[in-house]
Amino acid sequence: KVYGDRRQNSAGIDLSVLAERARLSAAVTTLDAAPLSAGPLVGGKMSAGAAPQPVISPSDAGRVVGVVSEAQIPQIDQAFKLARAAQPAWDKAGGAARAKVLRAMADALEANIDPLIAILSREAGKTLSDGIAEVREAVDFCRYYAVLAEDQFGDGEVLKGPVGETNVLRLAGRGVFVCISPWNFPLAIFTGQIAAALAAGNAVLAKPAEQTPLIAMEAVKLYHAAGLDPRLLALLPGRGETVGAVLTAHDELDGVAFTGGTDTAWRINQTLAQRQGPIVPFIAETGGLNGMFVDTTAQREQVIDDVIVSAFGSAGQRCSALRLLFLPHDTADHIIDGLKGAMDALTLGDPALATTDVGPVIDAEARDALDKHLVRLKREAKVLHALNAPASGTFFAPVMAEIPAADFLEREVFGPVLHVVRYAPEDLEQVAGALAARRYGLTLGIHSRIESFAADVQRLVPAGNTYVNRSMTGAVVGVQPFGGEGLSGTGPKAGGPHALLRFAVERAVSINI
Ligand code: GLU
Repeated sequence: KVYGDRRQNSAGIDLSVLAERARLSAAVTTLDAAPLSAGPLVGGKMSAGAAPQPVISPSDAGRVVGVVSEAQIPQIDQAFKLARAAQPAWDKAGGAARAKVLRAMADALEANIDPLIAILSREAGKTLSDGIAEVREAVDFCRYYAVLAEDQFGDGEVLKGPVGETNVLRLAGRGVFVCISPWNFPLAIFTGQIAAALAAGNAVLAKPAEQTPLIAMEAVKLYHAAGLDPRLLALLPGRGETVGAVLTAHDELDGVAFTGGTDTAWRINQTLAQRQGPIVPFIAETGGLNGMFVDTTAQREQVIDDVIVSAFGSAGQRCSALRLLFLPHDTADHIIDGLKGAMDALTLGDPALATTDVGPVIDAEARDALDKHLVRLKREAKVLHALNAPASGTFFAPVMAEIPAADFLEREVFGPVLHVVRYAPEDLEQVAGALAARRYGLTLGIHSRIESFAADVQRLVPAGNTYVNRSMTGAVVGVQPFGGEGLSGTGPKAGGPHALLRFAVERAVSINI
């Protein structure tokens, strides 16, 4: 039996339709005229946190998208208290009742797709097509986990035992989950983590990424409007070092779901290990050092298309993005030439314009780190091609550089930088082995018409998501369950049939008459 098979994925909207585009730009204009605000939302009430700080658009340093005030310790304590009080009834209500709320949330997201995309574009610098994909993914998570809640959180499974004895195994919520989400999918992953925790019968305290509190605030309001008891979901915006640190050290938590950098995951893991009290699960989805292996049988045009999307789509700010492209000596130059041409065809600029392919990176810190990396590439490697960035906003223009081997990269480079490594087919084992030795294991791309080549690469480079003869980003809920292993995360995979299991406890009951 495949759990979750009854789901339907969201259709989104079609950017090639003029009227749809007009609606989206109207939504952006509306947002520009009325900046938003976010702050601690506890028990459905917005309380005053720390002094409000402006949220600046990454695409335009002069544009204030809204203000945010950081949550304080008393609000965090209060959020735990309310969540603890409300959670047992939610758990007891069962998967079918929870599915109703999640489906109402999915409908609410779809009904608000225009303003949500406008916020994603202004606050997170998402292109319109990325914005559409992101709302769709958020909707898909809600509907998919609704099905899992119904299928996995009902009467339980009856297990065979001695005659006269009834044995049942049931799943139940753990209690109060802390969900910490990233800025690169500030709606989809934010909504998805919460949906998973709620579906399994938990209450949630959500800390959005410091850079993207406004879209998170809208999502939480929609959850509450969809019929969720507001005590079951609190929003606690703020920095990782402050709010994140207090949340993860709290005695009252029963589990943590985190998506973000590997360094932060280590920190949270340490904090959790030092707590006294219940031993809680840590669900982490972190970075990747993702490679794509091309052999001489690969179709050049397809490789070029898929590399451009995988490396430069979303300005390279996906943990699934292509970082290392392995090209065989014989065809490398030909493919590199094609990539240069395809890079030149990319349009950089205001992400709220339908013509933009590559928007800004999230903030000045991200841009500065990429600038620094570029200096190193110029000094120690060979820059093959680089585009120019618009002057205003935190843009970093796509770069393609040749490096000697995977170990040239000290860490994940989070942005639109494609590193090319040339290899001789007889060295595949060693070249791929060097990548695997880095111990990441998120996505893997393969371009080849030879099955044994694809099988060899998969054997040599373990990865949570492998894509053969296609792009390697944009996992679809229920189709490509997403998540890695090793330094890339703990699982279970988001949008997969086992996604809810670590959010739950298992209880076995044996009854004799
Ligand atoms: N699920 C996304 C994808 O498949 C990536 C998620 C992330 O960057 O955290 O591209």
